[in-house]
Amino acid sequence: MNDMTGLQSGQGPSPAQQPVPELSVIVPVYNEADNIGPLLARLQPVLERCTTSYEIVFVDDGSKDETLARLRQAHSEDARLVAVSFSRNFGKEIAISAGLDHAGGQGVVIMDADLQHPPETIELFVAKWREGYKNIYGVRADRANEGYLRRKAAENFYALFDAFGETKLPAGAGDFRLLDRQAVDALRLMGERARFSKGLYAWIGFSAIGVPFEVAERAHGVSKFSYRKLTRFALDGLMSFSTLPLKVWIYAGTIVSVVALVMAIYFLLQTITYGVDVPGYASLIVSILFLSGIQLMSLGILGEYVGRIFAEVKRRPLYIVGEKVGSAQHYPRPAFADERRAEH
Ligand code: UDP
Ligand code: MG
Repeated sequence: MNDMTGLQSGQGPSPAQQPVPELSVIVPVYNEADNIGPLLARLQPVLERCTTSYEIVFVDDGSKDETLARLRQAHSEDARLVAVSFSRNFGKEIAISAGLDHAGGQGVVIMDADLQHPPETIELFVAKWREGYKNIYGVRADRANEGYLRRKAAENFYALFDAFGETKLPAGAGDFRLLDRQAVDALRLMGERARFSKGLYAWIGFSAIGVPFEVAERAHGVSKFSYRKLTRFALDGLMSFSTLPLKVWIYAGTIVSVVALVMAIYFLLQTITYGVDVPGYASLIVSILFLSGIQLMSLGILGEYVGRIFAEVKRRPLYIVGEKVGSAQHYPRPAFADERRAEH
């Protein structure tokens, strides 16, 4: 309903709504009850220092602990703290996009709730923003406190993405960043279900710059990402930004066929010169197994893409809001000039 009025005027929030803040901070939270207090204690003084007006939009990603109660409490003490609460856990990527839908600021900061993203760095982000940069990202100085296996997995993923992805990712950049309104509007035009925001941030372009920061230890609780979730995430990332896994089978198929042809000629000549040599069972079974393996693998990869296409064409809403705390409003999706033209 809101969306209609916004689209007709073609602009952002309508005048009847309250004035938009200069800066919005989006914080996805999933079972972070113990972190909300300490986060606000450090974040709010920083925001007071570096902006004239701000709001903090928490996105409660279906927490099962006291998180939502703490958010309600926080809102009752300070109306600038608002929250959108999902009906269930939808994942951090989707929580961030819900945050972008509900943030009204001219600049939008995205950060984790666990104090691994030091709030003080936001001051540096804002300084760069005032210089005119539109896509300012935190670059983790080191991943030393992350555990060997996870660090290696991340390194491999980025190497793979670099080689095959159709968009270049800046090294060490994560979700901790400040986006200008223009960049936020661009991101909101993308309706992808399998969201790999690290790729989307790079894809939209705009003048970007990295600001180094030290990743702190998690303040309370444990990481919400299991290896299974991370693997899924890595696959989503690769598949939504690369079609190479689909194309590679053309080359693999060609190579295998050429090898098969060479072998056929070799066996033909052998048969002509030395007569029929019945055995050969080993080479036969090996090539059958090898080819079936390749076929199954390529089918599987096709399946992964088809599954993603299926998820996209269903056009389900990205998330379901169960409750809103405070005046968190869903801003109308921006209508870009080109899109409007296409409609006429
Ligand atoms: N998070 C979320 N939904 C999830 C998992 C995590 O909103 O399903 C939030 C979490 O509350 C935190 C941020 O995403 O604010 C980063 O999560 P976490 O610290 O567990 O990830 P890590 O730092 O280990 O990558
Ligand atoms: Mg963390």
